[in-house]
Amino acid sequence: MFLGHFGVGFGAKKAAPEVSLGALFMAAQFADLLWPTLLLLGLEQVEVQPGATLVTPLNFVSYPYSHSLLALVVWGALFGIVYHVSTRSRTLAGVTLGLLVLSHWFLDVLMHRPDLPLTPSGAARLGLGLWNSMALTLAGELLLFCAGLVIYARATAARDRVGSIGLWSLAAFLLVVYLASIFGPPPPGALAVAWAAQAMWLLVAWGYWIDRHRVTA
Ligand SMILES: [Zn+2]
Repeated sequence: MFLGHFGVGFGAKKAAPEVSLGALFMAAQFADLLWPTLLLLGLEQVEVQPGATLVTPLNFVSYPYSHSLLALVVWGALFGIVYHVSTRSRTLAGVTLGLLVLSHWFLDVLMHRPDLPLTPSGAARLGLGLWNSMALTLAGELLLFCAGLVIYARATAARDRVGSIGLWSLAAFLLVVYLASIFGPPPPGALAVAWAAQAMWLLVAWGYWIDRHRVTA
């Protein structure tokens, strides 16, 4: 899942208005932000295998530290605690971020084949496989994305032109990148996948930038 994670990040602004959109994105996408670094370090593996599913050509061979349920429970707790302590935020802000980190696993479970581990070392793997249906994949991704975007746009107001242009150009950019990734050619290899995924950090920065130009409505 791609757009859906950004959708829940956007939507969480309603629950914790004091938390920047950048931090909400970082939490919702923490698993996918960690993943490319673990790939590059050789700790996790992915293969490009056209036809693996109808929608994505990626075969997630192994990703126990970024994508197992237990790992995300631990990452979520750490993320929430570090944020809460370092920013002296309300407890609710830390809890919201922790739950966002955990939400990644449940949203991925909808899309993936049964390749998502429950624990880093166990054999159990889950996945409902919506990626085998283009219609259900698009419906799931777009529904979450649009709902979250509307919630964020209503919960905040642009302080200046950057606040509105920045937000809507980000939304358009995410849509274009997503559609290009599912309808475009498969990536040339695992290394290309890992480096391209690192670019997700720019979207976190984009979130921080927009949020500074918007106020809570
Ligand atoms: Zn993921």
